[in-house]
Amino acid sequence: MRPAVRPPGGTPRRFRLADWAAAAQAAFLAAVGGKRTPLAVSYIITNRCNSQCAYCDRWKKADPGLSTEQACDLLAGLRRLGTRFLQITGGEPFLREDLAVVVRRARELSLHTGVNTNGSLLKANAGVLRHLDRLCLSLDGPPEVHEKIRPKGAHWQVEEAIAIAADHGVPVSLNVTLTRFNTAHVDYLLDFAAAKGVAISFQPADVHALSSARPNEAAGDRDEVRRAFGRLEERKRDRARMENGFLELSYMRKWPGPQGVCCAGGRLFFRIESNGDVMVCGLKERGGEFPNVLRDGLEAALEAVPFPDCDACFSSTRLRINLLYSALRLNRGVILDWLGGRRP
Ligand code: SF4
Repeated sequence: MRPAVRPPGGTPRRFRLADWAAAAQAAFLAAVGGKRTPLAVSYIITNRCNSQCAYCDRWKKADPGLSTEQACDLLAGLRRLGTRFLQITGGEPFLREDLAVVVRRARELSLHTGVNTNGSLLKANAGVLRHLDRLCLSLDGPPEVHEKIRPKGAHWQVEEAIAIAADHGVPVSLNVTLTRFNTAHVDYLLDFAAAKGVAISFQPADVHALSSARPNEAAGDRDEVRRAFGRLEERKRDRARMENGFLELSYMRKWPGPQGVCCAGGRLFFRIESNGDVMVCGLKERGGEFPNVLRDGLEAALEAVPFPDCDACFSSTRLRINLLYSALRLNRGVILDWLGGRRP
């Protein structure tokens, strides 16, 4: 393996004891006292995108975007209120010319920071990697599958981005959304990740296109998605490496049916849109008025986010937090499943 050529400026931050301690404290206070802490925040830095995938309408939205200064102030405010984990996403974040400035600010604030990208602009902007803790790339399957809903050459761009990140010593995670095109390709995806030495996680495609109420034509047949999660459980038992735990896989297999989890959205995690609107997750962004960090101030906006009445989580990272939160809330079903007494 080639040695990393990460220029001076910092190495990726691992989760530290202090991060886990802060997470445990926030989760405990949320569960017993209902306290809100923006422990994990997903920030959509831009709606602009150069991919324009079939299952996403975000790139059709206006993109007022926060200024560089507003974005950096937002991060400082979040850190002050307890944020430890920051995921910068889009759109395509690398279309923001100031991405390096914002990510550097996140590093200064000791936020554990990842960026979601399609990888297409990484080569020209590899300097951003100096300040990053994790690069997250979307992958759907082999080239003919990946490029069914993405531009030609997109698969090769993912491979190139993995190599560039490796050169800079930045861990990569592949995000797989299971659609009707790729439920038969989970083995390819696991083997691809293993061959490249990168992490991988799976989640089902929402039944609506991202950022709109339009039905998602790429959403998978429910039974096929369920079978794909069953296959992932089998592979996990055979020690295939993936970020989803057994419990998450078995709960995802139930989706979009009720899962019996308590959502920690609005208590432990938030999502901030490019215009400063605050919500829980993508499922809650279809229309309506939202608290806004510019209009209401960050603290008031976070406090005003309604708690979701939702019990069917399609987001792998949020489901992980929701399961932990449910156990702390003494959710009997989740605790029994956790202890292995019952499979959902
Ligand atoms: S449970 Fe529902 S509202 Fe909560 S994070 Fe998951 S999908 Fe979003």
